[in-house]
Amino acid sequence: MKWYYAEGGKQIGPVEESALDDLVRQGVVRDDTLVWREGMAAWQRYAAVRGGAASGSGQASAAAAVASAPAPSADVRFCSECGRAVPASQLTSYGDVSVCAQCQPAYSQQRLQGGTRRFGGFWIRFLAVIIDAIILGVASAIIRIPLGLAGLGVVGIGRSSDPAQALAALPAIMSLIGLSFLIQLALSLAYEVYFLTTKGATPGKMALGLKVTRADGGPISAGLAVGRYFAKILSAMVLWIGFIIAAFDSEKRSLHDHICGTRVIYTR
Ligand SMILES: [Zn+2]
Repeated sequence: MKWYYAEGGKQIGPVEESALDDLVRQGVVRDDTLVWREGMAAWQRYAAVRGGAASGSGQASAAAAVASAPAPSADVRFCSECGRAVPASQLTSYGDVSVCAQCQPAYSQQRLQGGTRRFGGFWIRFLAVIIDAIILGVASAIIRIPLGLAGLGVVGIGRSSDPAQALAALPAIMSLIGLSFLIQLALSLAYEVYFLTTKGATPGKMALGLKVTRADGGPISAGLAVGRYFAKILSAMVLWIGFIIAAFDSEKRSLHDHICGTRVIYTR
């Protein structure tokens, strides 16, 4: 029997029944951890599903088991405030923001006072982009040192001999430039995807207390991070206008945020 469980706002699994038991022993899956397996109508607290079965038979209670099962993620939403995964039925919605029962009192209070998520504006995001560019610039310079040396070697051959041989070196130089460009692209893509999926923000954004979320406050998946990376290139291609529009948007969205349905918010 395959189980899924929610941890830190993410759905994890499938894991075998025995692996789930190990996770319980390790304290990773606790009584209040949400779990789901095929046959269950909705995600439930671990205690409600198996905690009662002290016999350890591993049988889910009959009440929890319902024949027609939705996909694992169908009934779980993320709280826009704390980011925890909770059953959709336990969320209160305010427009495209949904909050869990624990965050609801504080959130509705905050709304009454006119406060809501604080969006990161154009200048602070611009600063974050510069910090990331410096980090990436240093990293890619180090990685491309061997490439540069190879380039010098090729140019040396071209100079020291007759025109025909110099011309022959041209393809090698062009492919070195192309390789260098590809390394640059792969590095910045990996940087973006790694940090957005594991930390919710690139180091530049983290340093400034910013975070990228989905419209509903949920975390960024790898697929979305990749899509957002290429949408960002699009934003940059039109004279950076895609970035600049964030300054005029009610939710400070750039073009790539519009395309991907993402927001950049303050974490504190
Ligand atoms: Zn919450």
